[in-house]
Amino acid sequence: MATCTIPAIPNKDVSGDNLYAPRICNQPFIDWAWSAHGFSKKYWDDGFGYEAVCNNNLPLCRTLSGIWLLNYSADDYWNEQWSNNILHWGRRYVRNQIDDLRAKCGDGSAIATAFSGFLGIGRRVELYLGFFYSSNVPARAETLVHEARHMGGKSHNANFPPGSAYGAGRSGADSSWGYNGAWMYGALYLWWFYADGRRTTAALRQSARQRANFVIDNAFATHPGFTIS
Ligand SMILES: [Zn+2]
Repeated sequence: MATCTIPAIPNKDVSGDNLYAPRICNQPFIDWAWSAHGFSKKYWDDGFGYEAVCNNNLPLCRTLSGIWLLNYSADDYWNEQWSNNILHWGRRYVRNQIDDLRAKCGDGSAIATAFSGFLGIGRRVELYLGFFYSSNVPARAETLVHEARHMGGKSHNANFPPGSAYGAGRSGADSSWGYNGAWMYGALYLWWFYADGRRTTAALRQSARQRANFVIDNAFATHPGFTIS
């Protein structure tokens, strides 16, 4: 990559990249995902993977793996009605809200940023190295759902609580589970993926439960009052 380098890549069996990469390596899927989420070559070439879409060391493949999981983890994934659960409609929400998806370096630890745009100007979601390399495949789907919620008009509205791993007192938390914000959407997606995810492994489902509980324990000013057991 022109301005950043790939960090040490975590074990790809553990992250799910070895499971999902062969699935995204399919031209009709790539073509569909590319246009449905607003990828463009100028943001995904130059080392981000445009020239090697099936290479699961590179950001494009790892992003498409998150999109594949987001789209095909419900048993009957084609039933994406809002009346169903988020394992079904998460993919539809992300498609509706994200129409410009860009790869960038970020500062090394940053995950993603949503720019909802005044009057829609500059409306986009940027994904960074933390998304590509420190998140496993289910957590990438979580981030897409989280950022889509921002694009849908819901900002964070509180500071992180005492003891939060995100930094007590810093802004970026949601006030409560009932606020229905980005943290809740992401955690709810992971919860359903844990409870009823298909075409995946028991280990990845467990990782989703752990990650959802981490969000529940750290990202709400008022603790939701439950954990996923
Ligand atoms: Zn956020």
